[in-house]
Amino acid sequence: MDTIRQQLKALLGPRGVVETPTIAAVGNWRGHPYNSPLLLRPTSTEQVAAVLRLCNQHQQALVIHGGLSGMVGGTSSARDEICLSLERLQKIEGIDTLGRTITVESGARLQAVQEAALAENLFFALDLGARGSATIGGNIATNAGGNQVIRYGMTREQVLGLEVVLADGTILSSMNHLLKNNAGYDLKQLFIGSEGTLGIVTKAVLRLRPAMPARNTALVATNQFDKLPRLLSHIERALGGKLSAFEAIWDNYFQLALQGPHLSTPPFEQRHPYYALIESTGSDTETEADIFLAALENALSAGLINDAVLAKSEKEQESLWAIRDNIDSLAAIAPVIIFDVGLPIGAMESYLEQIQADLKSQLDLTQLAVFGHLGDSNLHIVVGTETKDITVYHRVEEILYAPLQALSGSISAEHGIGLEKKRYLHYSRNAEEIATMRLLKKTFDPHNILNPGKVVDL
Ligand SMILES: Cc1cc2nc3c(=O)[nH]c(=O)nc-3n(C[C@H](O)[C@H](O)[C@H](O)COP(=O)(O)OP(=O)(O)OC[C@H]3O[C@@H](n4cnc5c(N)ncnc54)[C@H](O)[C@@H]3O)c2cc1C
Repeated sequence: MDTIRQQLKALLGPRGVVETPTIAAVGNWRGHPYNSPLLLRPTSTEQVAAVLRLCNQHQQALVIHGGLSGMVGGTSSARDEICLSLERLQKIEGIDTLGRTITVESGARLQAVQEAALAENLFFALDLGARGSATIGGNIATNAGGNQVIRYGMTREQVLGLEVVLADGTILSSMNHLLKNNAGYDLKQLFIGSEGTLGIVTKAVLRLRPAMPARNTALVATNQFDKLPRLLSHIERALGGKLSAFEAIWDNYFQLALQGPHLSTPPFEQRHPYYALIESTGSDTETEADIFLAALENALSAGLINDAVLAKSEKEQESLWAIRDNIDSLAAIAPVIIFDVGLPIGAMESYLEQIQADLKSQLDLTQLAVFGHLGDSNLHIVVGTETKDITVYHRVEEILYAPLQALSGSISAEHGIGLEKKRYLHYSRNAEEIATMRLLKKTFDPHNILNPGKVVDL
């Protein structure tokens, strides 16, 4: 690495190369190691391309860093790997208010993009708890989901064009601005969700929508799981396409999440087995509020919910979301494994019963916290493992992942595979799919220099 180190310094200048960097990753619950001795901080696409040309020539492995909020070890590094951060490519290059697009460098934070859109009375339809840390490049590389997928789809649906630097340094500029463009293969799709293994995203053209000033939020409680999907159907029908979030919370997570300095007053007088955070957005404040209230009242009369709290101000809306987003409260049952599984809603209750029984009988583990994007068939299941012993982790993972195969479920609904889930990919993808992934990796990155060992092994 010593020869290449000098060449990299010559390419990027003194501020562009950090020796023995200290890395603070916000999504690293598992404690994946960051052992890279070098962190590169290019300032332009051309610099990224020059770095890749050099590393490809020397067959030097690179690990790509966005905002480090990824939850599957995708940014962790070994001693013989070099990290490349997009932190100095944060420019918002422009907003086209007529075409409703925003063009950004990939190191721009998600929240900065949301705010830039709002300043033009437009709306970027991706949101997640790590909005202040996560970058657009990381969102694209992981095809992030988040809180509004039920209405707007995942990151993939928000991306119109991309600029990507390939492993050999080729700059692939595919900065499409059009909603419809079937001129040949849609190459950007290959890089969305590829977790930095096929190329480095340096710029993106993102789709915007009109801002939705009317926002209604409620937290409801119910006593039976099967009422949640029925409530979801009822609310979707009643709101006529305005539903923007439907987040389910089990009481085991709810009780943990209430423990926080900012959450001193519990929203309900008594405990309930299940809760749902429901939100609608639209254009007309008064009409939307009436429709939202009527939908909740009808759900109450139909016995689908037992109690409800309607947020009366933006502050109350934020405090309801703070319960859902209080992931730090999971520290109370740490060490934990955070799962991100996808499965049909109809199978969720029996799946949860089965894994709870197996965790208890095989490992005597009982600490569980469950919440998730129910409308997207996506559950986050957090298991308190009482130890960091990797053999226990693997046994817990087998218990949760193996049953998903028969359910045609997913071991990763939105977080990706990274390092953490690679050994279980076969539960969600067949042999031909995995072979095709390897073929793509070999074609795009024959020397295996981009995030090697992540997603699939060669
Ligand atoms: C509190 C919290 C809440 C979260 N909520 C959600 C949620 O609701 N939905 C969801 O999907 N995720 C969620 N996440 C996970 C995480 O925020 C997302 O995966 C996010 O998209 C990662 O962005 P990042 O910039 O932090 O990427 P990083 O963590 O830096 O990187 C993630 C992966 O992408 C690669 N990568 C990063 N930038 C680039 C680039 N420019 N080009 C190519 N590859 C790149 C990395 O190598 C790595 O493999 C949450 C995380 C936290 C901590």
